[in-house]
Amino acid sequence: MNGTVNLALLGITSLDVLAAGCATPQAILARQHCRLASLLYTLAQGSSLYAHRLRNHLDPSAPLHSLPVIRKTELMERFDEWVTDPAITLKGLRRFTADPQRIGEPYLGRYGVWESSGSSGEPTIFVQDAQSMAINDALESLRRSPLTPGADALAFPGRGERIAFVGVTTGHFASVVQMHRLQSLYPWAAQALRNISILQPLASVVQELNAFAPTLVATYPSVAIALAEQQACGALRIAPHAIWTGGENLSAPVRARVARLLHCAVRDHYGASEFLNIAWECCCGRLHANTDWLMLEPVDDKFRPVPPGHASATTLLTHLGNRVQPLLRYDLGDQITLATRPCACGSPFPVIEVSGRNDPPLQVLGEGGKPVLLLPLAITTVLEEQAGLYEFQLRQRDGKTLELQVPQTGEAVELALARGSQALQDYARVQGSVALTIITRTGIALQRGHSGKVARVVAPCSSSGL
Ligand SMILES: [Zn+2]
Repeated sequence: MNGTVNLALLGITSLDVLAAGCATPQAILARQHCRLASLLYTLAQGSSLYAHRLRNHLDPSAPLHSLPVIRKTELMERFDEWVTDPAITLKGLRRFTADPQRIGEPYLGRYGVWESSGSSGEPTIFVQDAQSMAINDALESLRRSPLTPGADALAFPGRGERIAFVGVTTGHFASVVQMHRLQSLYPWAAQALRNISILQPLASVVQELNAFAPTLVATYPSVAIALAEQQACGALRIAPHAIWTGGENLSAPVRARVARLLHCAVRDHYGASEFLNIAWECCCGRLHANTDWLMLEPVDDKFRPVPPGHASATTLLTHLGNRVQPLLRYDLGDQITLATRPCACGSPFPVIEVSGRNDPPLQVLGEGGKPVLLLPLAITTVLEEQAGLYEFQLRQRDGKTLELQVPQTGEAVELALARGSQALQDYARVQGSVALTIITRTGIALQRGHSGKVARVVAPCSSSGL
């Protein structure tokens, strides 16, 4: 046992992950079924919160969709009844995460811990047992497509790779905890890993990257596009063979621009603090969900199933590996679409598209004072495709006013903002809005949440703190 790394369990889990990659969809469903039955047993025996919620659903043959949905607020209110180890308390965890010296340290000597900065109030704290950490590590290192045909899909520091993580580098966030763990797993390769903070001026980020010359850069799409623009103007001079993105939506125009300006492959990844590796991108550029270790249910706003080919209102997550802080039919808040056809890559794992990351729609005024909803995905598409704007933040001031901010200045940006404002107003008018005013501002640094992510569309009662 090395901190939160149980090497024997990691080995067994890695073999299972490799075997599942060659299995049939039916064999993966059989794994799901078996792991779900085991999870339900744990819930009934070990979590008093879930035992209470499931008291009328004890039939082991009951389908998943007949079981109750649970939300984050309820879990946090009854945190000590949720976790299955009585030694874990929310109070103790808050003390732990308040100490920056303890980032990446195993809690109680055996649990991985990280937090996510919520949209309001105290952060949610996530506790991972040894099995869950082994699943994270195995999926992260093994389930990844080669960047070029025939190339090695694995990328470890010390195998010639220099990996830069560009993000928030302090705080008990999952990405920071994982980098600390990686450095403890590969102490001989610590020089090949670099954490670069985005809380410093962009010029300093560029300077650090130029000096480090990474072969791989892991970051958020909003940072990747900013770096790509720096490369285009000659300030940044790096030659990575890949950019790994995650944490925010990666749109097709942003992906194409990053790939073109940085002359490298872009690989996206879909994860959440609740489950770090929900889906990985295959060689065909599609996201495959790791359904051997999780279950995803796309549902509408009343938690009814949404068929493949249709975007969900939210998604229910069931974590089939974590027994210490179990998640069954947990409302993740993200909007996904299950593909109707299998992928050409031949993977047995289902294909999903992620269209929204917990993004609330904007609500503006329509005819007769009726509310009109503007969807974040549509807004970002309009601004990217019709105005060529990739780095921006659209904040709603009130029912009739939006503020469009960009970090750049100059005549070209002013022209792009004018085009963007017009395109947004046209889109909003088609949706039924009246008298929408768009204020534009240049030279404004994008406001990031505590964990470094950017919400490109910010509703008035949501926080950009992600
Ligand atoms: Zn595929």
